[in-house]
Amino acid sequence: MLSKVVIANRGEIALRILRACREMSIRTVAVHSSADRELKHVRLADESVCIGPPPSANSYLNIPAVISAAEVTDAVAIHPGYGFLSENADFAEQVEKSGFIFIGPRPDTIRLMGDKVSAIAAMKEAGVPCVPGSDGVLGDDVEENLKLAHSIGYPVIIKAAGGGGGRGMRVVRSEAALLNAISLTRGEAGVAFGNDQVYMEKYLENPRHIEFQVLADSHGNAIHLGERDCSMQRRHQKMIEEAPAPGLSKVLRHKIGERCAQACREIGYRGAGTFEFLYENEEFYFIEMNTRLQVEHPVTELVTGIDIVREQFKIAAGEPLSYQQEDVLVHGHAIECRINAEDPDNFLPSPGIISRYHSPGGPGVRVDTHIYSGYRVPPYYDSMIGKLISHSDTRESAMARMKIALDEIIIDGIKTNVPLHKILFEHSAFQAGGINIHYLEKKLGMC
Ligand code: ADP
Repeated sequence: MLSKVVIANRGEIALRILRACREMSIRTVAVHSSADRELKHVRLADESVCIGPPPSANSYLNIPAVISAAEVTDAVAIHPGYGFLSENADFAEQVEKSGFIFIGPRPDTIRLMGDKVSAIAAMKEAGVPCVPGSDGVLGDDVEENLKLAHSIGYPVIIKAAGGGGGRGMRVVRSEAALLNAISLTRGEAGVAFGNDQVYMEKYLENPRHIEFQVLADSHGNAIHLGERDCSMQRRHQKMIEEAPAPGLSKVLRHKIGERCAQACREIGYRGAGTFEFLYENEEFYFIEMNTRLQVEHPVTELVTGIDIVREQFKIAAGEPLSYQQEDVLVHGHAIECRINAEDPDNFLPSPGIISRYHSPGGPGVRVDTHIYSGYRVPPYYDSMIGKLISHSDTRESAMARMKIALDEIIIDGIKTNVPLHKILFEHSAFQAGGINIHYLEKKLGMC
């Protein structure tokens, strides 16, 4: 097994990774910014290295600083968590060139899947269902583009090949608006992502967001761990996730999951990954792959009993997967609520000192958070401060457990979105299951 690992992240996910390391007797190095000395995992790690000032660009995104920390501490591997450098192919490449193990896919795979157009081409090749759309990037031929949109059928969506984080997309509802939309999206994409290539897809009006978790080792084995429904979103940011997806048949789950696993075998994927799909009228449409651990991985862990972070370490150490597809069984239902330090009325960040914190607990309740009474939420980073996850034999009971947990949790001193979660759990459409990706914004009066 790996002897010592650098955890190149912060907050709840750094703590989650540290716990897996401790369980596996892997020594840990926490790298952190000067604003994060008081983080729980920094205190618990075997060693810690301050890699720079608070702005992420000067610390968590500073590639030479992270690699130097691995060098000076004699670590053998680097776990990037999610966000920050986790999907940066250049980082993965430099980690490997410096003689360390990158806990994730090969750099070439990250590059292939990081460009949406090449990712879609690879998935089509592997037989994964994709959204009807352009064959690759759009050219400059006006007539061709008009003809293409006509054949796909309006509405269509113009998307940046290098886009991410829900940016670089424009919905077009009529022919009159098409050409302008293409040139506007191109211009914005060039500025925002340094890549002005765009492509076209059919715009699905009321899809659900359903994604499949996969694990693949470096010996050509790949399995899927079923799906998660992440349709409760605001501005493309997920707020509540659950597994399994309400109403999805076992047959369809297995069919799509197996396609994802097969695609992993075909592209030589290594590590944990997620295939994101839009799901409408019982059809799946691939939109992108995340080549890293996801925020919402705990719901899959609770229904399958498989520790995804532990598997990441085993794969990185060159071991074969601990499970075969027939070992993966989905038990009961799990739901996750992302807890954000933000004002539930206007979603503005609410950093500051947590004057009092009481954790919920009880049967089937998991709390992944780094916060504690007296912790100061810094203003520099993402506002997510933790995740509440409930599990039970039925969806109804998992929801009941979540409601109890939301009632029990006390976070004083800052504002959080806990009150909004409480309201959402009273909504009959959410209780019934199967809401689409526009549900939350409609309820909030944003559409
Ligand atoms: P990003 O990498 O920026 O998250 P995605 O391709 O994953 O971009 O798309 C983000 C979100 O945009 C999706 O979850 C969905 O809400 C919306 N979206 C993307 N493509 C389509 C489409 N073809 N039809 C409808 N909605 C779409």
